[in-house]
Amino acid sequence: MSLPKLNLHIHTTYSDGKNTINQIVKTAIKLGLDYICITDHFSNSWKSKIISTLNNLDKIERYLEEISHCQAYILKKNKKLNLFKGVEIDISSSENYIIHNIHPNKFDLILFEYLENLEGIAFIKNLIETWKRDRRNSNKFPLLGLAHFDPSFFMLSGFDVLLGFLKQYNIIIEFNSSYPRFYSRKYETFFNKLKKNGIMVSIGCDSHHLSNIKDVEGAYEMIKYYNLEDNLKNLINSLEMRKN
Ligand SMILES: [Zn+2]
Repeated sequence: MSLPKLNLHIHTTYSDGKNTINQIVKTAIKLGLDYICITDHFSNSWKSKIISTLNNLDKIERYLEEISHCQAYILKKNKKLNLFKGVEIDISSSENYIIHNIHPNKFDLILFEYLENLEGIAFIKNLIETWKRDRRNSNKFPLLGLAHFDPSFFMLSGFDVLLGFLKQYNIIIEFNSSYPRFYSRKYETFFNKLKKNGIMVSIGCDSHHLSNIKDVEGAYEMIKYYNLEDNLKNLINSLEMRKN
C-alpha cells in the first residue's frame, strides 16, 4: 500500500501565512492531498510582536468556523481531502494565556513548538494535565505533537525523560521537510527509539504559501529511511478515528 499524502502543518492569513484557509483547501483538493491540518500560530511571547497570531477568543472562534465551513464544502462536493483543525502553540507563551484561549476539545491537533529542554517538557506536561482536569475536554481530546522538533537538544542529556514523555502522553513527532537537518543520521538512536516504542510520526512542511503545500517529499524519504512507516500509519489511523 502506498502511503497517503499528508501535510499537517500549514499556516494561513490567520497568522503569518500568505493565503486564506479557503485558498489552501481548494489547492489541496487540486493537488490530490489526502489529509491536511491548518495550524496557525498561537503565542504571546516575542513571536507575537513580530507576526500575527491567533491572539484572542473571537479570532480563534472565527478561525475554527472558517475551517468548519470548508469541511462542509468538502463533504458536499464529495472530495477525498480530509481537513483538520489545528493550532501551533509557542511554548514560551505564558501558561495562563494558553489556558484561557485554547480549549483543546475544539481542535484535532495541537502542535507545540520550541521544545528544547526539560523545563519545556514540564511546561507541556502541566498544560496537558490542566486540560485533562477540565471536564469539557473529557470526551474529546486532540492529538498532540512536537512541531519541527530538533533532537540535538536532548541527545546529550534528558533523552530518557523525553522518551518517557512521548510515550506517556502519546506525543507525535513531526517530520518537517523545511528542516532537513533535524533528520540527520547523527540522531539515528533517537529515530530507532521512536520505532521501537511505537511513537507516532506525522508529516508537515510548515507551509506559509500555496506554492509549497505539497512539498513533503523530504519528510516521506526520512520516514522511509528510518523505517517509521508503521508509526506514520498509526497516526493515519488516529486521524481516521477522528472523522467519526
Ligand atoms: Zn509552523
